[in-house]
Amino acid sequence: MPKPTSTPRGEFALIEQIRRRTAGVRSSAIRLGIGDDCAVIAPPAGSEIVVTTDFSLEGRHFTRDRHTPESVGHRLLARGVSDLAAMGATPLAAFLSLALPKSLANNQRWLDGMLSGFAALAKDTRTPLAGGDTSQSPDDLMLADIILLGHVPQGTALLRSGAKAGDAIYVTGALGGAAAELEATLAGKRLRGDAHPHLFPQPRLKVGDTLRARSLATACMDISDGLSSDLPHLCERSGVSAEIELANLPLHTLTAKRKDALELALHGGEDYELLFTAKPSTRMPSSIAGVSLTRIGTITRPRKNTPLVTAIAADGTRTPLERGGWEHLR
Ligand code: ADP
Ligand code: MG
Repeated sequence: MPKPTSTPRGEFALIEQIRRRTAGVRSSAIRLGIGDDCAVIAPPAGSEIVVTTDFSLEGRHFTRDRHTPESVGHRLLARGVSDLAAMGATPLAAFLSLALPKSLANNQRWLDGMLSGFAALAKDTRTPLAGGDTSQSPDDLMLADIILLGHVPQGTALLRSGAKAGDAIYVTGALGGAAAELEATLAGKRLRGDAHPHLFPQPRLKVGDTLRARSLATACMDISDGLSSDLPHLCERSGVSAEIELANLPLHTLTAKRKDALELALHGGEDYELLFTAKPSTRMPSSIAGVSLTRIGTITRPRKNTPLVTAIAADGTRTPLERGGWEHLR
């Protein structure tokens, strides 16, 4: 028998603390939340459930010394909520599996900060925490897995697979800001201003919901790995190719004075904006819920010997857009 990895007393106290800190979000769909063997959830009549899970691992997705605990809590929920937004779904419930090292379980200030960052976004997005699992991490590393359930009216979820040749390609908000702020964060710098796309990304729930409800999009996904990595996924799922006009990419203000702004916008990960396509006949609003929508290119027919994604420069030069892999805390 391995030694128990947690003292039940500490574990129960921790679960109680998590329950209290997140109790502010109420939902009639949660018939039974934290405290029993399972949660009981009653999804709205006529809906389908969408499910996503995302790891947040210390050293890979966040650091203990450079990220504030509020940011760690916010980001770990935001990753999952952004996936729901990409499907046009409404959050139903979250489940949090947490392996905490002793050093963090005993650090009340860190724990308070992490839970308050989590609770603030849960409140903003009306995502009730309905359960989870808690264990002591066998190593001095925190591991968290967030499980998100959402609901959509039957058969209406926005998929990656619906794009057709001729469709226009759009993104929400601006690109490259998260990569710029990550770089600053790892260097121990804090950026001034209200925009914190890396530390506090805002999942585009209202945009996704509106695109779905008004049938504005033919395909949709969120940008977690960077445009150059994510757009090929949409193309592959839809069986199409794409052209991107580089001059039209909305560059984040945090990249403004940088020579590599375009690289950050193309390859920088974790912007958590939505990437979607629409029929050429669709009249797209210029913004939804205060979030700008920018046309960045066009879906094309796939052809042999032409790249999946072509980048067109301002002078008309065409080059294949290579995937710039995003490796989180590089
Ligand atoms: P069991 O041993 O039956 O899995 P636990 O003692 O692990 O029960 O959990 C008790 C209750 O606390 C359950 O409702 C569970 O969902 C909830 N819970 C445990 N850990 C967490 C957590 N990290 N976040 C939210 N709820 C949690
Ligand atoms: Mg358990």
